[in-house]
Amino acid sequence: MLHAPYSEKIAIQQFPICPHPAWIEIDTEQFRKNLRAICKIVAPSKICLPLKANAYGHGLVKMAKIAEEVGIETLGVSCLKEGVELRLNGIELPIVIFGAIHESQITDLIHYDLQFSISSKYKAELVAKRCSVKCKVHLEIDTGMRRTGVRVENALDLLSFVESFSCFDVVGIYSHMATSDKPQDLFAKEQIAAFSKLKEKLQDRSILFHLANSGGIVHYPDSYFDMVRPGLLCYGYFPDGRWDDEIKPVLSLKAHISYFKVVAKGVGISYGHTYHTEKTSRIVTIPVGYGDGFRRDIKTDVLIRGKKYPIAGAICMDQFMVDIGEDAGYVGDEAVLIGKQGEEEIFLWDLAKSAGTIAHEILTGFNDRLPRIYL
Ligand SMILES: *Cc1c(COP(=O)(O)O)cnc(C)c1O
Repeated sequence: MLHAPYSEKIAIQQFPICPHPAWIEIDTEQFRKNLRAICKIVAPSKICLPLKANAYGHGLVKMAKIAEEVGIETLGVSCLKEGVELRLNGIELPIVIFGAIHESQITDLIHYDLQFSISSKYKAELVAKRCSVKCKVHLEIDTGMRRTGVRVENALDLLSFVESFSCFDVVGIYSHMATSDKPQDLFAKEQIAAFSKLKEKLQDRSILFHLANSGGIVHYPDSYFDMVRPGLLCYGYFPDGRWDDEIKPVLSLKAHISYFKVVAKGVGISYGHTYHTEKTSRIVTIPVGYGDGFRRDIKTDVLIRGKKYPIAGAICMDQFMVDIGEDAGYVGDEAVLIGKQGEEEIFLWDLAKSAGTIAHEILTGFNDRLPRIYL
């Protein structure tokens, strides 16, 4: 086992016990449960599963394969690179690229059978100039996010422009919500109304209308339309931090304690000595740091032997310390940084809030140095 090819993610995934002292565990059964629960909630709307940014840190290809098995209809990614990676790994489901396309990508988008967004007449012309076969596109309409897409009042004009070229097959029309993480939000309701009005005008057309992200699904049932795009929710988190019984987190972050020492009362710990012991204490070292994506400003506890202990001092690039007081905790013990141990749990949202950010950013920040173990 010591001679495992560490650089190959696949090889590491096959080990029941990981050769690296810190790792991310993915509960694939829980992911299936989440997907099935969401399917039930939004039915008869279809699901386009967002797999961008390495499937929110969970592993792009692996999560795509599970989605395929569960019967998810469509996958969504942000850019060409992610779409190609899915195709090269044998994923055959329809894939939509959400991000704005660049002229140099058009040949590959078509070659790999990727559906993509047309967000302006200019983009449509770029594609039409280079395109010899039919390509499947989604028109992107800006109902209030003000990121990409044409204004809603120009939507019909864009549609007829796009359809004046023989190379386009308009599969979908979509928009994105700016404030759906808040319940009962006036602006979210306005976006839904504007999108609804557009759909009514095109009632006789078989085009998939899609608007809702996780916030839309949780707070705005009238945002479902023909298809929904739940990212965070599929991985087990509600946009505002709450959760129910069926949809639960899929990811845990764990490590083996790598060092242990007893220090005197009143001594400083880690860079800058921002933390001082209150009594003679046992200090354990955890081999995870901001170099793995465990951000320097995280201030949650860590679980060791079923109990919560505070992070002691600054998080370093590759490790950080935990003050376990007078309790037991030794080299090799499992520490849980996100997830459950015994009766206790460290919640991702608490971690994100302690670092002044959202769950999405913490998840997508975990990089390749942390192997993913699929249970
Ligand atoms: C990321 C993204 C989503 C998913 O957002 P969540 O808040 O994670 O549900 C949906 N649609 C588009 C266009 C996105 O870029």
